[in-house]
Order: sequence, then structure tokens, then C-alpha cells
Amino acid sequence: MLPKSNFAKGALIVVASAVTSEIVYWVYLLFWDKAWKKYGTKKQTQCDNVVTEVIFFPDDKIACKAHFASEDGCENKMCRFTHEANSLSRLYGYLTSAKTSLDVSVFVITCTDLADLLIEAHKRGVLVRVITDDEQVDITGSQIWKLRSAGINVRTDQSSYNMHHKFVVVDKMFLLNGSFNWTRQAITGNQENLMIINSSKIVSLYLGEFEKLWQNFDPKNRNGTSFQKRNF
Ligand SMILES: [Zn+2]
Repeated sequence: MLPKSNFAKGALIVVASAVTSEIVYWVYLLFWDKAWKKYGTKKQTQCDNVVTEVIFFPDDKIACKAHFASEDGCENKMCRFTHEANSLSRLYGYLTSAKTSLDVSVFVITCTDLADLLIEAHKRGVLVRVITDDEQVDITGSQIWKLRSAGINVRTDQSSYNMHHKFVVVDKMFLLNGSFNWTRQAITGNQENLMIINSSKIVSLYLGEFEKLWQNFDPKNRNGTSFQKRNF
């Protein structure tokens, strides 16, 4: 049996240990909880910012480009296009918001309104670069030569395989990516989707791919092998 003084000391140590462990536990809970909340909030915020929206086609009607994408608006009282907001008007909005760059990699471009928006962006000083499929350049309604005539640099693959991407990066900040070709059929006929993403990581991956293709499809970098592939 412990002497009285030793017994008191032992009891004190036990109580002190219990109190200390309780304090440590509550401090841990407090900080862990705060950290969890902070991390959880941050994580949630990041997730919210990855995909900003998804727009689906077809639209019932073609959105009026003059109404949605020009300063003066539509002055045509007999306008046959819709002035109601829809998926195409959202796309107009992203393209007209470009201030520095538009990196466009789209398989088919026959829609005059969308091509005109690229030309207008080019005229207001936006660096517009277009990559498309070589076999779509001369199809009926192709806008590629119009883009080139306006001074926009367009590059194509030189392959029997398709340059099948359908994405645009706006100001190196927003990625618009999905199934959507720039055709009237895609706007008012097909089921299509276009996801708008502003995750810097995802955007940089697409920009990297765009730069790779841009270099590969530079006419100066073409070699005999890529031309020969067209014969197979
Ligand atoms: Zn109109």
C-alpha cells in the first residue's frame, strides 16, 4: 500500500492525465473540425468551378446573331431568327466574350454565324487560331476559306484519319468541349452537348493538346510521311 503522500501524488497524476487527454481530445476535435470545414468548403468550391454549365442542342430555332452578339442589336423587324435565349445564344456569348484568344479545334465549320463571330473577334484584336479536318475544308458551305480570307490562321491535319475534336478555349480560361460541330444541323437537328469548364488544370491540358496539333499541322513541319498517309 502506498503512503498517503504517494497516494495523493498518484491520484493527482491520474486526474491530471485524464484532464490533459480530454483537453488534447477537444483541441484536436476543434482543429480537425475547422480543418475539415475549411478543406471541405474549398473542395466544394473547386468542384463547383470545374463545370460551369452544359448546354444541349438541338435548339428549336436559330438564335439571332445580331440580337445577341452585336452592339446595335437586331434592327430587322421581320427577323426570322429567335430573340429568345437558347443554347446557341449562350455559345455566342462565350465567343463574343473573348478578349485575347480563341483556340478553336472543330471538325466541321459550316455555320456562317459562328464563323462570322470568329472574324469579328479577329477584327477586334483577338488572336484566333483554328484547327480543322483537311477533308472538311472544301465541303459545301465550308467557312474555312472565308476565315482564311479574313486573315485567320487555319491549320489542318494531312491524314485520312479525322481531326475530330470539337473544342474551343476562350482566353485560355474557358474550355467549351463536347460533340458539337459548327453546323446548322448540329444547332437545330442533332442531339449535341457542349460542356463549359473553367478548371485551370483541364484547360491547360486542352491548350497543350492544341499547341501540339498547331505545331504538327504547321505546313513547315509537314513531312513526306504525313502526306503519304492520305493515299491509304
Ligand atoms: Zn433578329
